[in-house]
Amino acid sequence: MWYNMAGDMMKRTRRRFLQEFGSILVVGAGAGMVEAAGSSERPVKYSRLEMHRNGELRERGNKLWDMMEECKLCPRMCGAKRLEGERGFCGASAQLEITSWHPHFGEERPLVGRGGSGTIFMTHCGLRCVFCINWEISHRGDGVEKEIADMAAMMIELEGMGCININVVTPTHYAPHIVQALDIAIGKGLNLPLVWNTCGWERLETLRLLDGIVDIYLPDFKYSSGEMAAKYSAGARDYPKVTQQALLEMQRQVGTAYPAPDGLVHRGLMIRHLVMPNGVSGTGRVIHWISENLPKDTYLNLMSQYTPAYMASRYPDISRRLTREEFEKAVELAERAGLTNLDIQPMPR
Ligand code: SF4
Repeated sequence: MWYNMAGDMMKRTRRRFLQEFGSILVVGAGAGMVEAAGSSERPVKYSRLEMHRNGELRERGNKLWDMMEECKLCPRMCGAKRLEGERGFCGASAQLEITSWHPHFGEERPLVGRGGSGTIFMTHCGLRCVFCINWEISHRGDGVEKEIADMAAMMIELEGMGCININVVTPTHYAPHIVQALDIAIGKGLNLPLVWNTCGWERLETLRLLDGIVDIYLPDFKYSSGEMAAKYSAGARDYPKVTQQALLEMQRQVGTAYPAPDGLVHRGLMIRHLVMPNGVSGTGRVIHWISENLPKDTYLNLMSQYTPAYMASRYPDISRRLTREEFEKAVELAERAGLTNLDIQPMPR
């Protein structure tokens, strides 16, 4: 989740970005649209609708479902026999569990519009960070059992409420369910972009099955150090390497997130980086990697909101909020790296 976006610096960088890319048109927002640069006459290909009609969506959902046999949906690859009722390291069995669904106005502005982002919060999480602000959902497992048809109905309901996208939060362990629900919902007329709101730690094998299905990837890039990732995210030492490969695959699938003339993003990669105290997130190296491996106009949300939630008070380096100096240094690094599409979160009061 993300809160409050404003600030002079953000406005300046956004204005510069819009000046440079104001002629980019995004057409066919919704089911698997493609983007057209500078022309509204290029044909629109509704590939996801086709995928529903020709059974490809069902097939992808089935392939993802089979990955739960000895689960390898996420990089934890814990091998839980979810189809036999076992719960994995993430806490999930094959039974879908959802915490809440509603229009959400606290996400990045290009994802909110007037109607809000149609957010569905999935219960459980495979990364399990000790500082998670949503620990009741991710660690404690607060949520309600739902059927896949229920989730499809939620998607339709959110669209009916005026939401501008369907935003699945912490989706990976329920990827099979989401794709199957989407298949049902598209059959009932759903025509909204799908936002994959993830910790960034994704397997390529899973992402490839989402190619053509996800419109907007919204990953975190949390750490540049495997040591930090292991310490604060339940031993996930491979987080930096795995996430870098995942970001490249996401970029390949959906490209750079260019706003449409209305300022909304309908397709593309939007990265979040939460700056943590005492250099724990390795912000300099995260920024350097993005600037060297992705387009300079890659959307990057630099977040200042870190707060020592859940078990963070047990770890001295992350037991306090970020200082203004630490955050300003992060912003300076991003600007110096030549990144041109920065969203700078103001410091919390
Ligand atoms: S999604 Fe859950 S059950 Fe599957 S590999 Fe990851 S942690 Fe294990």
